[in-house]
Amino acid sequence: MSTQYTPEATIAHWIDGKVVHESGSRTQDIFNPATGAVVRQVELASAKTVLQAIESGKAAFPAWANTPPIRRARILDKFLQLLNQHKDQLAAILTQEHGKVFSDAQGEVTRGIDIVEFACGAPQLLKGDYTEQVSTDIDNWSVRQPLGVVAGITPFNFPCMVPMWMYPMAIACGNAFILKPSERDPSVSLYMAQLLKEAGLPDGVFNVVQGDKLAVDTLIEHEEVRALSFVGSTPIAQYIYQTGASHGKRVQALGGAKNHMVVMPDADMDAAIDGLIGAAYGSAGERCMAISVAVLVGDVADHIVPRLAERARALKIGNGMQPENEMGPVITRQALERIEGYIGAGVEQGATLVVDGRDTKVSGHENGFFVGGTLFDHVTPEMTIYKEEIFGPVLVCVRVASLEAAIDLIHGHEFGNGVSCYTSDGHVAREFSRRIQVGMVGINVPIPVPMAWHGFGGWKKSLFGDMHAYGEEGVRFYTKQKSIMQRWPETIGAGAEFSMPVAK
Ligand code: NAD
Repeated sequence: MSTQYTPEATIAHWIDGKVVHESGSRTQDIFNPATGAVVRQVELASAKTVLQAIESGKAAFPAWANTPPIRRARILDKFLQLLNQHKDQLAAILTQEHGKVFSDAQGEVTRGIDIVEFACGAPQLLKGDYTEQVSTDIDNWSVRQPLGVVAGITPFNFPCMVPMWMYPMAIACGNAFILKPSERDPSVSLYMAQLLKEAGLPDGVFNVVQGDKLAVDTLIEHEEVRALSFVGSTPIAQYIYQTGASHGKRVQALGGAKNHMVVMPDADMDAAIDGLIGAAYGSAGERCMAISVAVLVGDVADHIVPRLAERARALKIGNGMQPENEMGPVITRQALERIEGYIGAGVEQGATLVVDGRDTKVSGHENGFFVGGTLFDHVTPEMTIYKEEIFGPVLVCVRVASLEAAIDLIHGHEFGNGVSCYTSDGHVAREFSRRIQVGMVGINVPIPVPMAWHGFGGWKKSLFGDMHAYGEEGVRFYTKQKSIMQRWPETIGAGAEFSMPVAK
């Protein structure tokens, strides 16, 4: 049985296969959001530590890139087994530092594991292509080669799964990877590092630097870092994309969201209500694929708003480690205050507050960061609670007359991450999924997060860059194509050619 990981009092960095503390480091508190107590601290790297990680990756890269893909995949396969053994321990740390309920945390780990499983098959995707006799006596083939040192900067809401959208693919492709996790729930990053080492990953292929803007900027500016993957809020995604590109890097930067669910009058209403409640309030609404807008077509609102209200009021809220709870706290006190501020703005701007989650108190957890399930009706597109990402358990209902009006509404929004449509009409389903300008679409599926081999990515201000995360797009992102053309001496000798060579 492999060793379990116990977080230290101060979470530090992972460089060259071991934990590295920086003396005199700046630190930040890590909270258990269910109790409001500080559980430990995290170091915030100086540029010196980030440079140390980059040097470590640079030193490890040549041998790793030269390791046959099948041998790289075997290490990931061992890692996969270890992740499965340690799944619940990883999930428990997620619940402690993030707050999501334990069953949801287990689901997060599983969806991350899916990517590792896919990455084990990377040799198939790396095998390139070949044309024999592209011209007389000439063959031409293309291969995909790793980039070098690449980095990932990740958000607080999926501290295990989102890094796994990145590093299993990057490592399988032969790169050295540096992870800069969220400073709010960083402990699982060191757990994953320990398991990778135990699986046999050579030191330096996976490094972790804890930190904030300073660490991120050091990664962005360093010429040895060839590519950046980012997941987080839109203003930072845009900043990373623009700054990374100006430093000549390949960048994929996934941003914020405001996901709509359209409910047509012909939909199965029980299924639509279940879908909305789970997708709006699961993980306290802190998912980039959470549904935060219900677009209710025709007379649907009159039927379902009262039922949604009843369900929102009945949500079981509390510490995520208690199995009866359906929703945990939000990440920080600042997040709680921001969300309550949005609820106030909704009231001020004239929306109907049907269920108010402000001032929610959980007995025995009086200092926890809890916001109750909140429901607004009669929300209009000009209101702040419609336009902005709240990232909390707040569902806003917009009433529209038709499918056309629902599509127009969604097209008017700046984000385009996920969307869902509940209907029992195949034509509506087909038209909706074909026409909608959103990257991930669910038909009678509330949260259409693509599986590991399909790739994840939104449109519009939800993604900056050309390629989606993981899947085959992940392989393309973490490799560059090389084309090789070959001819052997006996056919050489036709003399210099001054016109454009064409197939002969
Ligand atoms: P965030 O943007 O605050 O932080 C993300 C990362 O960027 C963290 O590692 C953080 O340390 C770093 N960072 C923060 N400020 C920075 C700055 N000024 N310069 C450089 N780096 C900086 O996001 P968050 O609050 O951790 O996560 C929530 C957000 O992430 C939401 O907007 C959510 O929609 C989004 N998200 C998007 C997806 C997606 O796939 N599109 C997935 C998960 C989360």
